[in-house]
Amino acid sequence: LIAITEVKKRFGDNEVLKGISIDVEPGEVIAIIGKSGSGKSTLLRCINGLETIDGGSIMVAGAQLLPDEVHLKALRLKVGTIFQQFNLFPHLTAGGNVMLSQMVVKKTPKPEAEAMARKMLDRVGLAHKFDAFPEQLSGGQQQRVAIARALAMQPIALLCDEITSALDPELVAEVLAVVKELAADGMTLLMVTHEMRFARDVCSRVVFMHQGRVHEIGHPEDVFTAPKTPELRQFIGAQ
Ligand code: ATP
Ligand code: MG
Repeated sequence: LIAITEVKKRFGDNEVLKGISIDVEPGEVIAIIGKSGSGKSTLLRCINGLETIDGGSIMVAGAQLLPDEVHLKALRLKVGTIFQQFNLFPHLTAGGNVMLSQMVVKKTPKPEAEAMARKMLDRVGLAHKFDAFPEQLSGGQQQRVAIARALAMQPIALLCDEITSALDPELVAEVLAVVKELAADGMTLLMVTHEMRFARDVCSRVVFMHQGRVHEIGHPEDVFTAPKTPELRQFIGAQ
């Protein structure tokens, strides 16, 4: 579904991605782990077109990712991204936030956008919060609205960058439960996470990034119980 081949990215003379290759199959849930600065966020930003790449290629659903506006717009319709910060519009309700991008980006008529927003808020357990403003919601609820907003665009895959890192510990589980359900429903997920337990229990594969490379990749059991490299052993030990 997403074919990442020998992707390179540099910022000035800092080569941040040094030839990353990962093939993401439909319905796969891939956890990306690794130390701060190993290039995890940069990789996600390359996949959703927020950064241009300096080498290699990225194919999404059979279409090559090219850095022109037409291709980028098409790409952003296909791939949803959720960040650590929820980035909801404070002056719009939960429902309004989920409706907005559908109406602006997809030109969905308002009644359909609203129906979709209700459906997706229901899916993340927040049907009753349609009219609530972000400041009236907990961090976990706001992040679930952000997930509903991404789902409303009907993406073929979701990229998640540390989506529970800004949450109080007691709110992490409710967001992970939503992600787990999406995974069970067959959504293709690529998630940068520090939740090792979640990676182990829910993900089909784990990618360990180190210094801009895929240092190890494999099934969670193998990666966590039988790390092959000292770098991964050390990383796991530090968690
Ligand atoms: P963290 O776990 O802290 O989020 P990460 O693995 O997501 O780390 P990245 O954010 O991808 O790491 O950053 C990788 C490297 O690229 C770092 O050295 C960072 O300083 C550099 N970098 C990232 N974005 C930029 C940018 N826009 N301009 C210059 N350097 C950048
Ligand atoms: Mg990051």
